[in-house]
Amino acid sequence: MPVEALGDYDPNNIFARILRGEIPSKRVYEDDWAIAFHDINPQAPVHVLVIPRGPYRSWADFSANASEAEIAGFVRAVGATARLLGLEEPGYRLLANAGVHAHQEVPHLHVHIFGGRQMGAMLPR
Ligand code: AMP
Repeated sequence: MPVEALGDYDPNNIFARILRGEIPSKRVYEDDWAIAFHDINPQAPVHVLVIPRGPYRSWADFSANASEAEIAGFVRAVGATARLLGLEEPGYRLLANAGVHAHQEVPHLHVHIFGGRQMGAMLPR
């Protein structure tokens, strides 16, 4: 079920539970601001999710309410994860679903990193 981009943060959403270590994840990167782990249902040879440690529901929530340090830390963590995965060459795709039209399913901000193959068209037509 896609979620709304705004509203109260649900502290029991699946990524909050991954952050607390209550359910397992295959982490590839972590720092003070973010963690990155493999998507459970990969849609490319490399499919990793990067999430901020703070309780932000969506891009709308994060961009409006996170501190400058959290925003900088998260953006740097996405770049560091892609670098660590060896994706800078030949490249990768970032995707963040925001709200119902984008089919955001987990109400904790996440950026998808896709790589390992030619990504093709940006969106289905
Ligand atoms: P979105 O549609 O952008 O909200 O994407 C949510 C993503 O989270 C999907 O690609 C799911 O496969 C992924 N996902 C859901 N549960 C887990 C989990 N426990 N561990 C890793 N990835 C997950």
